[in-house]
Amino acid sequence: MCFLNPFKIHTRHFITVFLLQDQDKEYVGFATLPNQVHRKTVKKGFTFTLIVAGESGLGKSTLINSLFLTDLYKDRKVPNAEERINQTVDIVKHTISIEEKGIKLRLSIIDTPGFGDAVNNTESWKQIEDYIDQQFEQYFRDESGLNRRNIQDNRVHCCLYFISPFGHGLRPLDVECMKALHEKVNIVPILAKADSLTQAEVFRKKMKIREDIKHFGINVYQFPECDSDEDEDFKKQDQILKDSIPFAVIGSNVQVESKGRKFRGRIYPWGVVEVENPAHSDFLLLRNMLVRTHMQDLKDVTRETHYENYRAQCIQNMTRMVVRKDSSSRKMKRYTSLTHSVISSLTKLRRMQEVLERIQEQMQHSQRGGY
Ligand code: GDP
Repeated sequence: MCFLNPFKIHTRHFITVFLLQDQDKEYVGFATLPNQVHRKTVKKGFTFTLIVAGESGLGKSTLINSLFLTDLYKDRKVPNAEERINQTVDIVKHTISIEEKGIKLRLSIIDTPGFGDAVNNTESWKQIEDYIDQQFEQYFRDESGLNRRNIQDNRVHCCLYFISPFGHGLRPLDVECMKALHEKVNIVPILAKADSLTQAEVFRKKMKIREDIKHFGINVYQFPECDSDEDEDFKKQDQILKDSIPFAVIGSNVQVESKGRKFRGRIYPWGVVEVENPAHSDFLLLRNMLVRTHMQDLKDVTRETHYENYRAQCIQNMTRMVVRKDSSSRKMKRYTSLTHSVISSLTKLRRMQEVLERIQEQMQHSQRGGY
């Protein structure tokens, strides 16, 4: 005789139900959604637009070349002192396509030669401000147009603002420029040519610049808060990044060979500085932040905050214009109807006058006939 073990049957049944559920999950397949998004975005490629601002000679071009391992400024002509007296700020755009492991990035660098070069630099940041606004305007127009599929996004995602290592914190020009731009673009402050300062000086300058930024109410790019469930190492790296503002950087256009190693660096009589050595500068921190960890966040903040502000302002202005037009057309209507009523009263008056004149004439006529 065979006895069925009820427990065993129950267990097998339970397992069957579980297996079915597992199959169900596999069949739905939404777990592949990230792969689909990944494939689509990789196919489309990525874009990133960076503007560099700050006094000329602070090493902007050299740093850009070092950051993206390119030579963007081969044909650059540096103007002499006479040419710079009345120089206005130019806006020069360089676009390069970089491909790494099948991922394409269209990188646009907006250079601002002439910034801070003239004798009178009042509003020399205006060109930069206008350029950023023009890109928002173009995007706003394209977005409201018919062909929304092929919009080319030229909005500026980040501004590397170079601060001189030789001053005492921010100069008035830096303050005015940053204040004019901080609502329109993510500003990342850079302490230029850090190799000209000792470690203690770098520390003091960073403190002073941070104080000035706070004192003048400048909103530089804020790194997003770290999630509480991130691991300790990630949190530590995130804090180091936040404490490094402004990034003290070193740039170089040349490869140096020392102790059997080749690297981008600068040779001095007393030694060699390595651009990518974390003990020498924040160059690697900056590059990792820009390219590896925060590029998407810079783009998100541009879209969700800076562009949204511009868009809201635009719509507000447009609404105001329509209301003004409407009220002036209503005024016009009132004026027209008033004019009409005045004209009709005048016509009536003229007619009455004519009737009176005719009666007067008849009376005179009958009087003359009576004599
Ligand atoms: P830009 O006018 O701001 O674009 O400055 P450039 O990149 O043309 O650099 C001006 C000068 O500064 C050049 O002679 C560079 O070699 C030098 N330079 C660039 N970066 C550094 C740096 O990190 N440290 C030092 N000491 N000099 C630098």
